[in-house]
Amino acid sequence: MSDVLNYHDDCLFCKIIKGDIPSAKVYEDERCYAFRDINPQAPTHVLVVPKTHIGSCAEITGDNAALVAHIFTVVARIAQQEGLTGGYRVVSNVGPDGGQTVPHLHFHILGGRSLSGQMG
Ligand code: 5GP
Ligand code: ZN
Repeated sequence: MSDVLNYHDDCLFCKIIKGDIPSAKVYEDERCYAFRDINPQAPTHVLVVPKTHIGSCAEITGDNAALVAHIFTVVARIAQQEGLTGGYRVVSNVGPDGGQTVPHLHFHILGGRSLSGQMG
């Protein structure tokens, strides 16, 4: 389906981007892919991932910062597309203490209900 730069054989999200594992696509361009979380934590729960394998926010550098900035423009576009006019939350978990379970950089977009209250 899609070309994955720097594809990791054992990475779930690389497989999803490539189309080897099915997903509910929300948005795609040449640099990133967005799909619905299989276990949604809010009425809208979308994951946005770069098509190149980056492990997490801890691997964001000057070399890939433009890609990350692009992903944030896509986050705003998806939030609009999903009708999240009341606001939403963008989350990226990093490492074991951050609760990251899939080691491919991803941004959760959560919305469709009030998320005020506890952050972590
Ligand atoms: P993390 O815990 O790493 O921040 O987020 C990983 C997310 O990926 C979780 O919210 C989990 O529900 C989601 N997820 C795990 N496996 C799959 C899958 O096969 N398909 C989809 N669409 N989401 C998945
Ligand atoms: Zn990957």
